[in-house]
Amino acid sequence: MNPIALIALYLGVTLLPLMLSWISARPPRTFWDELASGAGMLAFAIILIEFVLSGRYRKISQRIGMDITMRFHQLFARTALALAVIHPFLYRTHFNPQYPWDVTRHNSLTFEISSLGSGIAAWILLPVLVLLAIGRDKLGYRYEIWRMMHAFGALLIAGMLLHHTLSAGRYAQDPALAGVWILLSLTALLSLVYVYAIEPFRQKALPWTVSSVRPLALKTWELTLAPKGHAGLDYSAGQFVWLNVGGSPFSVNENPFSISSAPASGEKLQFMIKELGDFTSTVGQIEPGTTAYIIGPHGNLTLLDRKEPGIALIAGGVGLAPLLAILRQLHLTKDNRPNILIYGNRIEEQIAYREELEQLGEDQKTKIVNVISEPTETWVGETGIADIKILRSALTPAQIKQWLFVLCGPPRMMENVESTLIDLGASPDRIISERFKYD
Ligand SMILES: Cc1cc2nc3c(=O)[nH]c(=O)nc-3n(C[C@H](O)[C@H](O)[C@H](O)COP(=O)(O)OP(=O)(O)OC[C@H]3O[C@@H](n4cnc5c(N)ncnc54)[C@H](O)[C@@H]3O)c2cc1C
Repeated sequence: MNPIALIALYLGVTLLPLMLSWISARPPRTFWDELASGAGMLAFAIILIEFVLSGRYRKISQRIGMDITMRFHQLFARTALALAVIHPFLYRTHFNPQYPWDVTRHNSLTFEISSLGSGIAAWILLPVLVLLAIGRDKLGYRYEIWRMMHAFGALLIAGMLLHHTLSAGRYAQDPALAGVWILLSLTALLSLVYVYAIEPFRQKALPWTVSSVRPLALKTWELTLAPKGHAGLDYSAGQFVWLNVGGSPFSVNENPFSISSAPASGEKLQFMIKELGDFTSTVGQIEPGTTAYIIGPHGNLTLLDRKEPGIALIAGGVGLAPLLAILRQLHLTKDNRPNILIYGNRIEEQIAYREELEQLGEDQKTKIVNVISEPTETWVGETGIADIKILRSALTPAQIKQWLFVLCGPPRMMENVESTLIDLGASPDRIISERFKYD
């Protein structure tokens, strides 16, 4: 589905409850009361769609990228929180029992605790959920624990909001709108069922075996998987998967990693993994023969439909992984477009696949530029970071204007390279990138 259609679908579903309320022909109330109901309904609709946005659907992530999808998820969560927080304060009508003659709740707001209680509880829990997500890194609990808390906390809040909406919502008394709320809530629930039950069943049927683990560079490992009794994965160079090594497919011990092998190299998958936290620090101890499961492929950092006359790959550290897959694929498929890899590291010991890159660089159409920011006296290559000096010396002005730029590395590096390229005349729609962190 193309991005415009996705945006239209998102807006259509989010605004559907408001539109149904509008056409329900109930007697109008004060502007502030209508605004209060509107804010509450919009917040609830956004929250329910959040389940789908974070559900790792390839139809979404392959078009707009998983990192951008997650950015939207975070942005919309904050928007829903703001709307939910102001919702009760906007009402001007007083809370009072419903008058017998006021069947459409024109002049009254429900004040029974059985209707309000769930709304108040959700109103208190929603900021907690969002703040725990924003401060996740600082709070220091394991990613997997946070993920479970986040998913099931959100489900609890959605359940409370559904109860509150159906029992206290004036417009939800209309069966059509009540039906929409129930349908959207079921979609949210199914989205969780898909991630935590259906997808693991699919993985269980398509297991992989670790065929080797070897050190590549300082604190960086290469992990190779072979398909176990199936044909392997249909993916594009530059994509990533969620990888679960040694655990049950029903566990949440899975981490996203870019595939560093090229589809044209065969059915085995290779990963380049840098030690960082609890899983990545133990990669070196994984025994060959261990069973692994993957979810994917995901992501849109690929050359699909890209017709630019040349490709510039700019990597920082382990950000080499997806770009190496692209470079390998360009060579294996005999793509004759000229290409360059600018590969930055802090120290020489961090350079991975040094020999393979040198060999690839022997091909006329490929240029490899290693850049080291803390060089020793013996280092003879480029020094510093991938800045304007390096970009200008590696690429001609015509190449900067016409080529495709593919970026992956630390966020600050990517931001600097992107803005430098734009300053040098590259068009933003010819710069694509992948972030290794969603926050
Ligand atoms: C699209 C993408 C591609 C990536 N490709 C590579 C790669 O090729 N090589 C590489 O070394 N690293 C890659 N990473 C980063 C890698 O996922 C993390 O370094 C790894 O998950 C850390 O796990 P841990 O258990 O060692 O550390 P933890 O301490 O558990 O996690 C450290 C951080 O990693 C992130 N993380 C952990 N688990 C998940 C998860 N299930 N989903 C999303 N984020 C998570 C969180 O931001 C977390 O705070 C990629 C990340 C993304 C998003």
